[in-house]
Amino acid sequence: MPAALVADERILAVGAWEDVPAGAELHDVGNLLLMPGLVDSHVHINEPGRTEWEGFWTATRAAASGGVTTLVDMPLNCVPETIEVAALQAKREAAQGKAWVDWAAWGGVVRGNAGELKPLANAGVPGFKCFLIHSGIDGFAWVDERDLRAALEQLRGTGLPLLAHAEVRGPVDKATLALNAASPDWRSYATYLASRPDEAEVEAIALLIRLAREYEHPVHIVHLSSALALPMIEEARREGVPVTVETCAHYLWFTAEEISDGATEFKCAPPLRGAANREALWQALADGRIDMVTTDHSPCPPAMKSRDTGRWDQAWGGIAGLGLALPVLWTAMSQRGIGIERLGEWMAAAPAQLAGMADRKGALAVGCDADLVVFDPDAEWTVAPEHLHFRHKLSPYLGAALRGQVVETWLRGELIYGRDGDAGEPRGRELVRP
Ligand SMILES: [Zn+2]
Repeated sequence: MPAALVADERILAVGAWEDVPAGAELHDVGNLLLMPGLVDSHVHINEPGRTEWEGFWTATRAAASGGVTTLVDMPLNCVPETIEVAALQAKREAAQGKAWVDWAAWGGVVRGNAGELKPLANAGVPGFKCFLIHSGIDGFAWVDERDLRAALEQLRGTGLPLLAHAEVRGPVDKATLALNAASPDWRSYATYLASRPDEAEVEAIALLIRLAREYEHPVHIVHLSSALALPMIEEARREGVPVTVETCAHYLWFTAEEISDGATEFKCAPPLRGAANREALWQALADGRIDMVTTDHSPCPPAMKSRDTGRWDQAWGGIAGLGLALPVLWTAMSQRGIGIERLGEWMAAAPAQLAGMADRKGALAVGCDADLVVFDPDAEWTVAPEHLHFRHKLSPYLGAALRGQVVETWLRGELIYGRDGDAGEPRGRELVRP
């Protein structure tokens, strides 16, 4: 039975139980699994400015309950948006005393802010996020090729990745126009799915690959949904183009076929697609064409989900699921015969690498922060509102039958979540990129 020896917040050694030095304080987890704390590089914390949607306290508690010890926050749903240094400072102040886990903040690339990127890089953001289509937030303007070129010029030499929401407007606008001309039923999920065609992702990813190749700059595709883009990504990577890819737990779990009309808690963009597409994503994850899995936890006040009308075109997009990804993935993996050791790669090591924190986070390795998860891979349970620690208990995962449960979460050597719920106090710190 292996043991991790912890001292001064770091992992001092990983070795045999017999080699633990005499006098060390022992914490025996028996036959449960010891894993590295997970890193979720795609979360919308919404604070400051939209704390009624989510916030540092609630998001980081949800993270701790799910074995996630590091969050990287997306720059758009907070006010001010993280598109200049003053906004980053406001976020740092807002997080004071409220973070149960460690965190970092992506900066934003929007139309016209190329001049803010170097100052943000110098202020310690690990990379930048942009949208190639309307983000839903007016203060976070989408970018076209010209804006992307201006941004990549500024980022040259920094090595900081450019993360992109990879859908372009053209196919979405065209599909939506055609749908609306035929007076569609906007309560029907099929209508929403038809309004966000695969082509929007494929076209966006083609553009991003082209720019990554030309600028030799790391580009990261967030939340890949369409498996049709996989051959293009595979070919680019074979050529050495620096492109990394994530998908999200929801694309690996839900399918379009099972979504009821009006069930807008399933709305996200790009959309949840069909069962065959989901299996193609699993195949790509298993064989390494997709690097990592995040949650893209993106909640809003329940009223904004338009459950009264059930209209997909009016509901806010975003799936709430922070804290559930580990058992969700494990349940789906065990159904597909995939070994549990892959979880550490997909949900800890790869996102830590993306966010430039692999020397501290994402591994059970000497010198890393002692962020640990004790996981019971055989526990069976059904998701109920009391298991959700984020602010609003509206989630498409409610009622899901899951396998595997987080028993304990440790942040830098101290228990932050255990059998009795929260433990200790919020001592999460920002990871500022040097
Ligand atoms: Zn997102």
